[in-house]
Amino acid sequence: MVAREKKTVLVSGASTGIGRATVRRLAARGHRVFAGVRREEDADSIREDAAELKGAGELEPVQLDVTAADDIRAVAERFEAEGLSLDGLINNAGIVVACPLEALPLEDLKRQFEVNLFSHAAVTQALLPSLRAAGGRIINMSSIAGRISNPFMGAYCSSKFALEAYSDALRMELAPWGIRVSLIEPGPIKTPIWEKSNQAATDLEERANEEQLALYESGIERMRQVAEFSVRTAPEASKVARCVSHALESPFARRRYPVGHLIWLQLYAGLLAPAALRDWATGLVLRWRAGSRR
Ligand code: NDP
Repeated sequence: MVAREKKTVLVSGASTGIGRATVRRLAARGHRVFAGVRREEDADSIREDAAELKGAGELEPVQLDVTAADDIRAVAERFEAEGLSLDGLINNAGIVVACPLEALPLEDLKRQFEVNLFSHAAVTQALLPSLRAAGGRIINMSSIAGRISNPFMGAYCSSKFALEAYSDALRMELAPWGIRVSLIEPGPIKTPIWEKSNQAATDLEERANEEQLALYESGIERMRQVAEFSVRTAPEASKVARCVSHALESPFARRRYPVGHLIWLQLYAGLLAPAALRDWATGLVLRWRAGSRR
């Protein structure tokens, strides 16, 4: 089905997963979509998707490493030069840095925040003039990990908690201009991020302190098993893309979109349970004495 009004949108991190499903969906609904990618082969692959649209919407790759100031500037200058006003900015790019906090090199903690928070702030600042001109919307890709934190995922969870706080403040600040800000909060979704994070964790182990890591070996291993199970049974990225199009198009766009299997149960059990009970239950699943006080 085609949307009633054609919008111009930019999606970061569109090479794979949720970003890719989102650009496909939004273009198929008739919008003009700029898909942020980092590599030429991903740009080519986006062009192949565009060729299949057969006139529904428009889909065009743009070079956008969200940590590269030059890329951000080039996108903003292009919008300005072509007089394009932006109806939707979808800050989706993200990485997972998984490591026990004791052993996590601080450089990696900073990189986690660089990609998952600071880069979105930079892209948002650069494109706000264009968003303001259109009364556009900002949609930030958070996670259930932005509401509930887990052991061995502290860097990722804290970056998403920070994105939540950033987005809440931004939403209230921009309200006078009618610029809405929504947060998408997926639970586990079947995308390449899981393999990428396993690979990144293996690379990181080589830099991290061996003795410190050894203390957590059994917990890390169990976390991997739980993650693998969650992904096997997880929904496809298209489910998240549907929330993004609602947040972009609906007059009743919500502030938060939790999405995924049993997400409300996870969310409310996680948020309403006393911390001691939550620690105990997490420890049970991970076979880690997360609830222990000793
Ligand atoms: P993918 O790994 O498939 O997609 C991540 C995207 O981010 C890729 O396009 C990747 O590009 C891009 N990216 C990473 N670093 C940068 C950068 N420096 N500049 C620009 N783009 C970058 O994973 P998902 O689709 O799962 O992740 C998308 C978002 O959804 C993330 O923010 C993630 O935290 C969030 N999320 C995912 C969940 C899941 O279970 N999958 C659950 C909850 C939230 P490249 O290919 O060039 O590396």
